[in-house]
Amino acid sequence: MSGVLVVIEQRAGKISRISWEALSAAQRLGAADSVTAAVLGAQTEAAAAEIAAKAPGKVIRIEHPLLAQYTADGFVLALQQLIQKESPAYVVLPHTYQVRDYAPALATRFGQVLIGDVTGIAEGPVFTRQIMQGRLNGNYRPTGEGPCFVSVQAGAFPADSSASSAATIATFTPTIDASQIRTKPSEPFRAGAQAVDLSSAPMIVAVGRGIKDQGNIPLVEALATALGAELGASRPICDNGWLPMERQIGSSGQTVAPKLYIAAGISGAIQHLVGMKASQCIVAINRDRAAPIFEVADYGIVGDLMEVVPALTEAVKAARQ
Ligand SMILES: Cc1cc2nc3c(=O)[nH]c(=O)nc-3n(C[C@H](O)[C@H](O)[C@H](O)COP(=O)(O)OP(=O)(O)OC[C@H]3O[C@@H](n4cnc5c(N)ncnc54)[C@H](O)[C@@H]3O)c2cc1C
Repeated sequence: MSGVLVVIEQRAGKISRISWEALSAAQRLGAADSVTAAVLGAQTEAAAAEIAAKAPGKVIRIEHPLLAQYTADGFVLALQQLIQKESPAYVVLPHTYQVRDYAPALATRFGQVLIGDVTGIAEGPVFTRQIMQGRLNGNYRPTGEGPCFVSVQAGAFPADSSASSAATIATFTPTIDASQIRTKPSEPFRAGAQAVDLSSAPMIVAVGRGIKDQGNIPLVEALATALGAELGASRPICDNGWLPMERQIGSSGQTVAPKLYIAAGISGAIQHLVGMKASQCIVAINRDRAAPIFEVADYGIVGDLMEVVPALTEAVKAARQ
C-alpha cells in the first residue's frame, strides 16, 4: 500500500470547490506525484482533463453507464474495485452529502472506518475532527492494515493545488451489474432550487438572529446594496422565513468563500462557521465580545448592529461618491 487516492465529485461535469479542497488535503499526505485523483461517471472526459491540469500524478476516469447517476451501491462497487487495484495507503474524499452516504460502506468493505469531516492534518499523520457539536477537537491516528479513509470538511483546506505539470489520464472500467444496484435514483436534492449562487459572490453581508425582527432586515440589505454584495443569513433567519432558504450559509446551507464576508448579529456556531470560514476577509459585528465569530474574524466590531450597520452603510456610500 502506498500513495494517496482522492475522489473528485462531479455533477453534470461541474467539479465542486470542496473537491479541489480534498485534492489539496491529499497533497499534504503524500508527495505530489503520489496522488491519484479519481472521478466517477458515465462521461468524465472533460472533468478528467480539468483535474489533470491541476493535479500532478495521475487521474483515473472510473467510467460505466451505471455510474451516470449516483447510487451508493454503484459508487461503492466501482471504488472498491479501483482501491483493490491501486492499493493506496490513504483514500481522501470531500465531505459532501454524497460521500456521507456511501463512504462509510466503502470503508467497511476494507474492514476500516471513515474518519469523517476532518478539519486538519498534522505530521504523523494525525487527523483532527470536531466532536461534541464543535466543543472539542478529536485527534485520530490511523492504525492497522488497510487503506485509511478520510473525508475533509468544506472550507478546511485551501482550494489550490501544488501542480506544476499536468497529470496523466487513465480509464478504469469497473464490473457492475444492474442487479447489484438496489436503489433507483431520482432528481438530486436541491437541484434547480438554487436561484442564488452565493458561492461565486465576491462580497456577502450575512445577517443573524441579532437582527431581532424581520422588519429590521432592510438595514442589512441597505449595506449589501451599498457594497454591491449578496445578502446571506444564518439558519434561524431562514427557518423563520425572514429570508429564503437559498440565502442560508452553513453546514445545511451554502458554502461560501468571498473576498469579504460581513457577519452582522451572528454568534458563530460551528454549523455556520463551516460554511464561511474560508472567506478571505471576515468582519464580525456583535455586541457580545465573547461571541465565537470573533475567533475567525479578521476585523471585529463590538457593538449594536442597529447602530453599526447604518453607520457602515453611510460610510460606504460616502466613499463611493
Ligand atoms: C444539524 C444542524 C445544522 C445546522 N445548519 C446550520 C447552517 O447551515 N447555518 C447556520 O447558520 N446555522 C446552522 N445551524 C444552527 C446553528 O447551530 C446556530 O443555532 C445558528 O447558526 C445560530 O444563528 P445566529 O448566530 O444567527 O443566532 P444566535 O446564536 O442566537 O446569535 C445571535 C448573535 O447576535 C448577537 N446580537 C444580538 N443582538 C445584537 C445586536 N443588537 N447587535 C449586535 N449583535 C447582536 C448575539 O450576541 C449573538 O451572538 C445548524 C444546527 C444544526 C443542529
